[in-house]
Amino acid sequence: MSKSLPKTKRTKDDVLAELRAMHAEDARWKEGRTFSLVYYVDEEHSRLLREAYGEFMSENGLSPLAFPSLRRMECEVVSMATELFQGDADVAGTMTTGGTESIMMTVKAAREWARNEKGIARPEMIVPTTVHPAFEKAAHYFDVEVRHAAVAPDFRVDVRDVERLITPNTALIVGSAPPYPHGVVDPITELAALAQARGLLCHVDACLGGFMLPFVRKLGRDIPPFDFSVPGVTSMSADLHKYGYAAKGASVVLHRNRALRRNQFYTYSNWPGGLYASPSMTGTRPGGAIAAAWAVMHYLGEEGYLDNARRILATTDKLIAGIRAIPGLQVLGSPHMSVFAFASDSLNVYELGDAMEARGWKLDRQQSPPALHCMITPAHERVADVLLADLRDCASKLAAGEPAPEGSAAMYGMVGAIPDRKQVDGFLLDFLDGTFDRA
Ligand SMILES: *Cc1c(COP(=O)(O)O)cnc(C)c1O
Repeated sequence: MSKSLPKTKRTKDDVLAELRAMHAEDARWKEGRTFSLVYYVDEEHSRLLREAYGEFMSENGLSPLAFPSLRRMECEVVSMATELFQGDADVAGTMTTGGTESIMMTVKAAREWARNEKGIARPEMIVPTTVHPAFEKAAHYFDVEVRHAAVAPDFRVDVRDVERLITPNTALIVGSAPPYPHGVVDPITELAALAQARGLLCHVDACLGGFMLPFVRKLGRDIPPFDFSVPGVTSMSADLHKYGYAAKGASVVLHRNRALRRNQFYTYSNWPGGLYASPSMTGTRPGGAIAAAWAVMHYLGEEGYLDNARRILATTDKLIAGIRAIPGLQVLGSPHMSVFAFASDSLNVYELGDAMEARGWKLDRQQSPPALHCMITPAHERVADVLLADLRDCASKLAAGEPAPEGSAAMYGMVGAIPDRKQVDGFLLDFLDGTFDRA
């Protein structure tokens, strides 16, 4: 059945009631049963975001002249992030609508730099296999060649493999703090030193850890250097809408200096509609997302971020120790913060995922190696014991030969066994087609 624009008006209450009814079918993230996508703190925090977002919902960050308020908020957010990442007064950046846009801007800026400063016609970049797909996407959009460096058994990128992949066309080396799959920070000091020695750019993708690692370190944990304090790091990305606890649509991209940042910008001066200058991918820039990010940073302050980090680390420690104690399960590597994966040397971990799903837990599935993924937020504090009890129970039932409930295990097993990844990409295109076909 296809849908057309309604012929007649409806009341606001009627429309909102239908909207809320649809909401009821969604993932129940407030109850701590999902492990990515939403970073929930509590109700007062949610109300702050809603009100700050609503206050600037109509304003457009594309025009700093019309909306000096947004310009000021954006500059202050960038400045607070710079200080958190130990950048000096030369560091310059902008906000974007998310990690992917920050990474797009990083790759686009590297391409311009390679063309303009190095005379490289077909620039290349070297990324760990664990890097976020946003880099592959950016390379695809901006026609940059990607070379993949292997990760060592500890899940950190192998710097010798990175070195081996350098060619005269290399422009950019990337490391993550931490990468999404296993949560183990790449050896940023070594990567940046290599880049610097070869006269290359080095980006640190701190989309996930940018607003967590500095507080984890302040709480006394040993976090390897990952930010502008490391010589040779030329840019960073960090998502406010993850552990910054901002509303969706907020990230920062920072460059070592203003000259590097200019490679990110876009201008067009011949348009009949006027002179056009845009700092990032999008044209219109959502004022609400900028305002909510500014608001939450002032609402929480260092004290609030530290409180959240403390709660999250306590929950993470409990979960990691609990999972390690379950026969047959292994946490992969030594995770630096609150993101980790676990695998099994004796059970089908995808079947474990299905058994957990039947009990209401949505653990993301990973491949190479097969694993289940956890990303801990304050919402998981209350459910950690139940999660561990369910994991223990499901694992022992599977080990005893009890069949797993019907789920996605068969599909993951099948897809994992297909050597031709182009064929898998075909399935993914079918999935997208199906998703956006008219209901
Ligand atoms: C989430 C994430 C991204 C991409 O961010 P989006 O906001 O989803 O576009 C990039 N890198 C890492 C490490 C991430 O976790």
